[in-house]
Parts: sequence; structure tokens; C-alpha cells
Amino acid sequence: MAKICLDAGHGGRDSGAVGFGRLEKDDVLRMVLRVGTILSGKGHNIYYTRDDDIYESPITKATEANNAGADFFASFHRNSAASAEASGYETLVYAIADKAAVCADYVNAEMEKLGFRNRGTKTRTDLTVLNSTKMQAVLFETGFISNANDNALFDAKFEAICNVLANGILKAVGDSTVSGGGSVQVTPTPIPPSNKKELGHVDCTYQCYTDRWWAPVHNQDDWGGKGDDYAIRYIGICVSKGSIKGRVYTRKSGWLPWLTFTNSYNTNDLVNGVLGDGSEILAIELYYYTPDGYMYKEVHYRVSVEGNSSFYTKQVDNQKSDGMDGYAGDKKRFLDKFQAWIE
Ligand SMILES: [Zn+2]
Repeated sequence: MAKICLDAGHGGRDSGAVGFGRLEKDDVLRMVLRVGTILSGKGHNIYYTRDDDIYESPITKATEANNAGADFFASFHRNSAASAEASGYETLVYAIADKAAVCADYVNAEMEKLGFRNRGTKTRTDLTVLNSTKMQAVLFETGFISNANDNALFDAKFEAICNVLANGILKAVGDSTVSGGGSVQVTPTPIPPSNKKELGHVDCTYQCYTDRWWAPVHNQDDWGGKGDDYAIRYIGICVSKGSIKGRVYTRKSGWLPWLTFTNSYNTNDLVNGVLGDGSEILAIELYYYTPDGYMYKEVHYRVSVEGNSSFYTKQVDNQKSDGMDGYAGDKKRFLDKFQAWIE
């Protein structure tokens, strides 16, 4: 039995592509629920990133799959183009190899038999659900919502399409589960997102050392550090719920190892109690872990660097999109202000 994460693309405020009065988010949710039913009928453990009309960011979806320990990840989408002529089915993968390629080859060929133009397998290293999932992953682009013929096929052959996608996933996970390499993990039944509870406010407390420890700061009440052109050399950080993982890039050592904190840090332990090695901190990377069973939250943080009095654009977890690098700071100039909060 494999643990399979099914991701209906978009959702909530994000409709995805729109065409002929239909919304991508609705078409793909229908598919995901049907494919999930087929797969669970075969005894597999299905985890949905969403099973109703809610929005979650791609990095949250990838993180959920990672935290769930999924063996395979499949993201369901419908394609769109400015030209109404564009049509066909394609599979997107991070790399054409292993389980993802097995799944793509099968699904591409079977979709062609159903009447879709076969657009083949495309490599996409820039998509978060493909590049931030730790397990093999595919993204199905199930015909163009901007093409009348593809929509007609989608509706007329919906059940056959769902069976093809389910079988493609089964092929991908087949070897590891059937031939039993000992890698099958027993995991608790996943909690559908709609059953997740609101975590409520999470307090993020942090404290910075320049030539001395400054008072602890909560969230955006203030910022940590001494201010303009005084290098921050250590940072203590903790959260009132869940845990936070952090690492800093220092003048002396580059990236230091990750440390994880729950509801306290320890300024008396400069090795494992706080982040830093005593030299100037040039960048920081943080990641927030939401407690199990709750809607995901993320750490938001920003820094100001020497010679620059204003904050850089904020960073969210270790995301690399929307102008974010995955960390805060430029690895050249020291941080002189630091601020973090959870939302
Ligand atoms: Zn999409």
C-alpha cells in the first residue's frame, strides 16, 4: 500500500484558468476526488491537499506532502492558452526519470487513445509542487480549458480520464509497493485539509546580540538588534506553538547547521541555544512547522543590512518565488535589524 498525495490545483480565491464559463479549480477538484476514490478502492492511502474549494500556496501543498511522508505526488491541472486552437494533454515533471517518467509515459499514451492530442512530457524545474516535493511528482495538464473540443472530451470521457490518471499513478507506485523493498512506511490516516483546525495566533519571540543581548521582541511589535550599522552576531528565536527551524550564514563560517526551536531558546548556549557563531550574520533562513492537524502557517521575516536603513522585502519560510531568494539577507553585508512573525 502506497501513500499518495493528490493535489487539485488552485482553489479558493485562485480559480486557475477560465474558459467557456468553467473554472480550472472546479474541473480539477472533481478529477482529484474521483481518482482518489479509485485509488483508495485499491487499498492505497490517499492524502488530499484540498478536498474542497480552499486556497493553499504551492509551497504549503508541497510541505504537506513532505510532512505526510507521501510516496508519490500528483498535481491535477487543466491547461490554457491565448489561442483557442491550442489543445491536447501533457505531463509535467521535474526530471524525466523514475516513477514520474513511468507515470507520464503511460498517461500520455492512454490520453492519446481517448482522443487528446499527445503533447508529451515536459520538464519544469521552476514549479514549486515539482521542485519542493521530496517524493517523485507529476503534474497532469488534462486538456485545454480554452479549447472547446478538449472540454467536450473532458466531459464525455471523464470517467475514462480518471481511470487513466489513476492507473498512471498505480504504475508509478507499483514497483515500490508490490515488490516490497522494505521502504513502505506505515503512517497515520491523513487529515483532509477541510478537517484541519485553525491554529490561532502564534507568538514569535526573538532576541538579537550585537555587543550585548537586546530585549526580546514579539512579532512585529519592534525589531531585533541595535540598528544602523551594528552587526547582529547571534539570534535567538522561538514560537509559542509548533516549532521553527533556522540557520544563519556568517562571515566566518558560511551556512551554519540548522537548529530547531519550540517555545524557548537559550542565550547561555551559544552553540545549540541560538543561531550564530559570534561573527557577523550575513543571511538567515527560517522555516515554520505547524502542529499536526492544523491549517498551515508560515514564518514571515525581513532584515535590514549595513549601509541601508530600510528593510529588504520580506521572506516567507524558504520560498523561492515572487522575488524571494529562499532566505533573507545578501550573504555579503551584515544584518543590523531583524524581524519575524507567524501568519
Ligand atoms: Zn493550473
